[in-house]
Amino acid sequence: MELKNLLFIPVFLAAIGFFFYNLRRILSYVKLGQPENRFDNPGERIKNVLKIGLAQSKILREPVAGFIHVSIFWGFLLFLSAIIEAIIQGFYSGFSLHFLGPLFSLITLTQDFLGLFVILAVLWALYRRFVQKVKRLDVEGHKFDAAFILCMIMGVVISMFGQNVANIIYANMQLSEWEVRPVSLWLAGIFVGDGSSASTYYEIFWWMHILIVFTFLNFLPYSKHFHVITSLPNVYFMKIGSQKYALKKLNLEDENLTQYGAADIEHLNWKQLLDGFSCTECGRCTAACPAATTGKQLSPREIIVNIRKRTEDKAPLMIAKTSEDNEEMQKTLVHNYIKDEELWACTTCMACVYECPVTIEHVDSIVDMRRNLVLNESNFPNELNVVFKNLETNGTPWAFNAQDRANWAEGLNIKTMAEDANTEYLFWVGCSGSFDARYQKVSKAFAALMQKANVDFRILGVEEQCTGDTARRLGNEYLAQMMMQANVETLNGYGVKKIVTGCPHCFNSLKNEYPQFGGNFEVLHHTELISQLLNEGKLKLKDESAKTKITYHDSCYLGRYNGVYDSPRDPLKKINGAELIEMERSKDKGFCCGAGGGRMFLEEVEGTRINVNRAEEAVKTNADTVASACPFCMTMMADGIKTLDKAEEVQVKDIAEIVLENIK
Ligand code: SF4
Ligand code: SF4
Repeated sequence: MELKNLLFIPVFLAAIGFFFYNLRRILSYVKLGQPENRFDNPGERIKNVLKIGLAQSKILREPVAGFIHVSIFWGFLLFLSAIIEAIIQGFYSGFSLHFLGPLFSLITLTQDFLGLFVILAVLWALYRRFVQKVKRLDVEGHKFDAAFILCMIMGVVISMFGQNVANIIYANMQLSEWEVRPVSLWLAGIFVGDGSSASTYYEIFWWMHILIVFTFLNFLPYSKHFHVITSLPNVYFMKIGSQKYALKKLNLEDENLTQYGAADIEHLNWKQLLDGFSCTECGRCTAACPAATTGKQLSPREIIVNIRKRTEDKAPLMIAKTSEDNEEMQKTLVHNYIKDEELWACTTCMACVYECPVTIEHVDSIVDMRRNLVLNESNFPNELNVVFKNLETNGTPWAFNAQDRANWAEGLNIKTMAEDANTEYLFWVGCSGSFDARYQKVSKAFAALMQKANVDFRILGVEEQCTGDTARRLGNEYLAQMMMQANVETLNGYGVKKIVTGCPHCFNSLKNEYPQFGGNFEVLHHTELISQLLNEGKLKLKDESAKTKITYHDSCYLGRYNGVYDSPRDPLKKINGAELIEMERSKDKGFCCGAGGGRMFLEEVEGTRINVNRAEEAVKTNADTVASACPFCMTMMADGIKTLDKAEEVQVKDIAEIVLENIK
């Protein structure tokens, strides 16, 4: 054993030992979270890791930054082989991976080119961060962190090239068997000397390489770059299947339950705590957030960063069983780390979750904290008093009489389930479709289309009440569950199998959240049925319609939540004379109207208005019609366009109305 090996072994043991100590420490923090089963369906989970984690599909949604990150990520993964080789050389100096034969050729070739690539990518990343000062990357207090990590990545690559070049010079410009290193060979040609000091340089670069790697490894747990370790597990444990965007059911029947939702870290589940340690602070979520981009206090990145901060502050005290009187223990995540205003600003549009490259679930945490505010603290914006009261007494957020719910259908020859339950579809009208004067017209238009196409449908009439979406997202799980259970009872009582609805919020609830309460139905949005009827020829468009330019505003609950992008667009594309113009932010990048998550019923006093921001974008397309497929979007877009004084030139219409105007 050489002196080098004797020196290396204690360095190795100290570095690895300290790393595992920190890993265990953080794992013990995460384990303080509530239990949550994220171990089911390993096949789908592995697929997500391959697609989102390794192929970096979400990162590549932003081409420039995505390309930089993918280069660094894959470059670094390939360097792992160089790192492993260097570490083994610490125990046995003559070790080389050349026994891998042709695979060694591939490894050395890719190491060489990717090394160059990583150096360029790191320089580019430093340029974007410190010269261009890209806003999304500008996180207070983390400039040093980012620069340090980027420099270390660069150091690992430079020291790898240093070892290669010294080796090549030492061997008189010869490569070993199976070794293919064109870049290193070229560099060796530049630095070539008499070769006498090459072995000394090799040792210097080897130690530099090893020490940077060990420093990097042990810096990770103390920096945001711990995501290097946690991001793949975080992707593995993401929510999957139909529950991906569904809110979790609180077990209100549990008599021992005293805490509803989350006031502090121990009320969040372990995955929500892991989210905190997986955040790369890339800012993609905040850049996409309608609340943040219109100047509200909410930043989804800060929500997650603060969950991590609180975990780091409180978890060690909890593990040490520190007295509740301790000043730090007296604080809570909600109020001391995250302000109420931040939580109430969220529209639950899901843009943050959709954009996050490490599948962090911001909305669940936000709603959990809202649940605490509403159910534990009775602490919510004043406007909600009347909303909750109306929901409780009228089954709708507005002050309408529940007995008037089916008034819109009078004289339209529409039967209720109570009159005749033998039907194919139940038309779930929703609160807006039933009571809102503007959206009643949409209910009528859609009913007329179904009648024209001979679709067999009924309504529930006065037996229908709010799906509970608004109450649930506002944190009033108790009220939401009351409504959901009552609706499931009614629907199951009639043996309903298929539901069609014009409201994406009802659609999402009925489809993805009602199964939690025993309501299992085939649920269609009205644009899906309209599209289907057109395709089947049961509805026929006019041969010629008036020329019109239409832009379609994606509803978050239809688009991001349920992937319905084509069925609202297809009918518009088919109308002869209609031109469909896309807004800049469309489909899964669609910008929220500002009404989701109960925001429809809350004043918007901070920053600029979300609906006006979106209306400006719609007006910019020069369309004469904004097509919508959601009652909330319709209200918000019409209001935004009115604010811009464009109501004379731009109309807001539902897809059902547009199709009805254009069929034979
Ligand atoms: S939550 Fe996700 S998108 Fe937001 S900053 Fe963290 S890693 Fe980036
Ligand atoms: S759901 Fe939408 S509004 Fe809420 S934090 Fe995420 S991006 Fe912002």
